[in-house]
Amino acid sequence: MIWDLPVETAPRETLEALQLERLRRTLEWIRERVPFYRARLGEAGLAPSDLRSLQDLPRLPFTRKADVRDHYPFGLFAVPREQVTRIHASSGTRGKPAVVGYTRQDLEIWSEVMARGLAAAGAHPGEILHVAYGYGLFTGGLGFHYGAERLGLTVIPASSGNTLRQIMLLQDFRPRGLACTPSFALHIGEAMREAGIKAEAIGLRYGLFGAEPWSEGMRREIEAVLGLTAVDFYGLSEVIGPGVAAECAEARDGLHINEDHFLPEVVDPASGEPLPPGTEGELVFTTLSKEAFPLIRYRTGDISALYPGPCRCGRTLVRMARVKGRADDMLIIRGVNVYPSQVEAVLLEVQELAPHYQLVVDRSGTLPRLEVQVEPAESLLRAWGGWREDRPELARLRETVAARLKAALALTTEVRILPPKGVPRSEGKAVRVLEKP
Ligand SMILES: [Zn+2]
Repeated sequence: MIWDLPVETAPRETLEALQLERLRRTLEWIRERVPFYRARLGEAGLAPSDLRSLQDLPRLPFTRKADVRDHYPFGLFAVPREQVTRIHASSGTRGKPAVVGYTRQDLEIWSEVMARGLAAAGAHPGEILHVAYGYGLFTGGLGFHYGAERLGLTVIPASSGNTLRQIMLLQDFRPRGLACTPSFALHIGEAMREAGIKAEAIGLRYGLFGAEPWSEGMRREIEAVLGLTAVDFYGLSEVIGPGVAAECAEARDGLHINEDHFLPEVVDPASGEPLPPGTEGELVFTTLSKEAFPLIRYRTGDISALYPGPCRCGRTLVRMARVKGRADDMLIIRGVNVYPSQVEAVLLEVQELAPHYQLVVDRSGTLPRLEVQVEPAESLLRAWGGWREDRPELARLRETVAARLKAALALTTEVRILPPKGVPRSEGKAVRVLEKP
């Protein structure tokens, strides 16, 4: 089902005309209302009327995460605080979070773009959706919640955590859809298996997963354990939250960006130069309709690529590749640049391993070392009759995994096979990389 047919299937020229008009309006809006942007545009010597086409977009200055933090909490808001209906904040791990605000109109648009994504993922009005994203300052829970209500779903606001209770609710309420992080979905599936509950006993049909990078291998694992079709969602609180882009169930080959509201670019992370379609780089977004917290050329730090070609589902909205990782998450190990999601892709191809892993970086020596912590697959443990540290096969498995990582990523690692449950499970966003103290 296509929720907003005229927009989601609009001809390119129509979309671009709308984008240019909204971009000019956004520039007028912020120049009048946000001192930071007035100064930035002044320095760049640009007036909104100078923008003749979307080709002029790279003339505008970037906005960075540091700019948002520097104006903590409300310094970049473009409306008086009294007109802000809701506040959210990013899940920053260091220092102050990035605070964002929404007017009533912003929340309307957020619900609309989420409804589009949910419909694209295969949700139909009247069905039940179990939302196990965290509710709170994090945008995941409430983003899915209001989008689902807009689409006409029955929402179960379960929030994150308490896995066994989640499973009880899933069994009793029998929702069609599950929305949560991919790592939590896997954890729920694993806990179900341990409790002897079959996927059919719950009857989930689709899963709406995002808020952390994940691989195709992870998708297959989750689909196998929960018996559903897994669909990728993308968003970040600074731009709006989830709903910036979502996969369509028909193709599941890239996420359609709601580009009538969020104008995407991909730039070279180092130089900031725009990159052509299909080239991997850092995603940059300009909001085109937000009132309270508009952003111009926001550097997301997320690595992806844009694919403007037609899609099987009929939508014309540009697609972005599944996010490979955040530029900040990139590890440099002995001269090799690698994202945790690339390591994940290799690990999940190894049949003898369970789909749980953690990376530990040790920078105490002259060269950083990467330890890859994994667990043996359940089938292997069954064949062994349980976990034993001294199994001779462990050494061979370690070597196999290290060799695969070396072959695929040119990465030298130390593989450590932990006992079952040795890798911490996630009930929210998974922590994939630890720095050895
Ligand atoms: Zn599509």
